[in-house]
Amino acid sequence: MANKIQILPVSISSRIAAGEVIERPASVIKELLENSLDAKATQIEVWAEAGGKELIRVADNGDGLLPDEAALAFERYATSKIREEEDLERIDTFGFRGEALPSIAQISRVTLTSRSRSGKADRDVSNPDSGVRVQFSGGEFQGETRVPSTEGTEITVTDLFFNTPVRRKFLRGDETEGRHIFQLVTKVALSNPEVGFRLCLDGKEVILAPARKDLKERVADLLGEKETAKLLPVDYEVSSHRVTGFCGAPDLQKSSSQSIYTWVNRRVITDRILIRSLADGYGMMLAKGKYPMAVLFLQVPPGEVDVNIHPAKLEVRFRNPGLVHHLVKRAVELALGRAFPETASAGISLNPEDLQKSGRDGAVYPAGSSFRETAVPFLSGTVPRPVSQELFRREKREGFFNSLKVIGQLKGTYILCQSERGLVIIDQHAAHERISFARLSENWSRASGELEELLIPVNLELRYDQARLLSEVLPTVRRLGMEVEPLGGNSFLVRAVNRRLLSAGYEAILQDILEELSLLPNPDALVEGNLEPVIARMACHGSVQAHRVLDRGEMESLLEELQEVEQSPFCPHGRPVFFEITEEELEKRFRRT
Ligand code: ADP
Ligand code: MG
Repeated sequence: MANKIQILPVSISSRIAAGEVIERPASVIKELLENSLDAKATQIEVWAEAGGKELIRVADNGDGLLPDEAALAFERYATSKIREEEDLERIDTFGFRGEALPSIAQISRVTLTSRSRSGKADRDVSNPDSGVRVQFSGGEFQGETRVPSTEGTEITVTDLFFNTPVRRKFLRGDETEGRHIFQLVTKVALSNPEVGFRLCLDGKEVILAPARKDLKERVADLLGEKETAKLLPVDYEVSSHRVTGFCGAPDLQKSSSQSIYTWVNRRVITDRILIRSLADGYGMMLAKGKYPMAVLFLQVPPGEVDVNIHPAKLEVRFRNPGLVHHLVKRAVELALGRAFPETASAGISLNPEDLQKSGRDGAVYPAGSSFRETAVPFLSGTVPRPVSQELFRREKREGFFNSLKVIGQLKGTYILCQSERGLVIIDQHAAHERISFARLSENWSRASGELEELLIPVNLELRYDQARLLSEVLPTVRRLGMEVEPLGGNSFLVRAVNRRLLSAGYEAILQDILEELSLLPNPDALVEGNLEPVIARMACHGSVQAHRVLDRGEMESLLEELQEVEQSPFCPHGRPVFFEITEEELEKRFRRT
């Protein structure tokens, strides 16, 4: 009896293998585009007819092939990209297995025409011997000729799946296949802005993307000016994992994930973790069932990602999915926070215990570590003020400032009030500074003052020397009113700040603090004696600037607070906070006496 188990003839097995790489016309184009990019092309044109079922043509101006290389390129495992095993670890090309061309040739009819850049210094395009042409049909070599050619490579694929009728039957309509091609070329073009692309479907030009220096211009070419104007830059890095690109403003909501474009190490990857993390970054800004728009490039160390789980390399497996989730989510939060600082500073105050308990993650995220994110409610408006804040509020007592009657504001800068003795003019900036100074001093003397958690922590990139100093003085800075978390390198995250510092420029404050601290003989041991200049500089940042229109309520609470803080008539810079013109003085001026 014949053996039940038989080894398939190569003619069948190679067609099965080819089918795994080539699923549909768009997969052919993907492989051909990657080859063109690997060949350093700067201009690539794609034509497809009947959704690519009848004809696919990709032409590039890349390195090209020498006459004796052309047929060889269609041999299995024929590649110019790796020579020895060690090369596998430093692959910087898309292809390396030498599988694409033989696979495509196996299941279609292919014509390759090419002329190498490294060929003879023969500039004559019409020279009948300048290029080479090879043809294959169903994996069979059909012939090789010399032809005139420009530099670069043109590959034409016709009758896709002609010899695998089952595969052919599974293809969708021309429209659908055409859409897949359109999507694919869009993705490839998005990730290669410096290369010009053109796509024609059934003779109609549907993509024209000239070579660009700037990613944003390329995005505008492909996704439209209007939506591109609403994209926010993303750039964030943790533990050698980096994400760059753009995410849409929160009002740019889509009902499918089709406007989310993601890459991992330059490969187009559609990964659920990435989409999920992105949506998590928007939190409650994203309506249920809606998706944001995004163009995100992930760069991760090669050992951290396995691209080989999917034959067409469309899916990946991350070694540390928790880190990837954190990275993308935080990157989006930061981008939104930068674009809409009002939302970022609408922080929620937590009492000091909560803040301590909330389990900050460490700076490094080793593989396999898990994260605990503090859940931060979205809007502070509906959240009741914690009791602890009331405890700190001093008892209201009648004093000079809170007995003043507000008359109005002058030039957005001065508050005019009626006092018992006459007219009081308050410099609102100096007053604010005075209050900030007092509050920040309180923060210091209470040792674990109450800080307000930022809705969206703010990422800071400091100079090397500043970063080193900051790492040493984090507890001091916390006591001064800023909770900062080191992220490794020169990156830090501002997590929570004294209420007085909300919506101030955190980077500038930190730089001021660091500058003051660096003047001390022992920056780590800031003491009461040399505290004042540091706090004075911080107070300056946290204060309302002049020329801000205040309503009556705001002016009244300013007076209330001014009363609460220690009654020194000078702001920390020595400028007076107010002066008074008595009734007698007024009478004198009007010569009423
Ligand atoms: P791989 O890309 O994995 O090396 P392929 O089967 O895709 O394998 O291509 C085989 C070889 O043919 C490549 O290594 C390259 O040397 C050559 N080649 C393919 N396409 C092009 C092109 N457009 N321009 C120049 N050389 C090409
Ligand atoms: Mg290839």
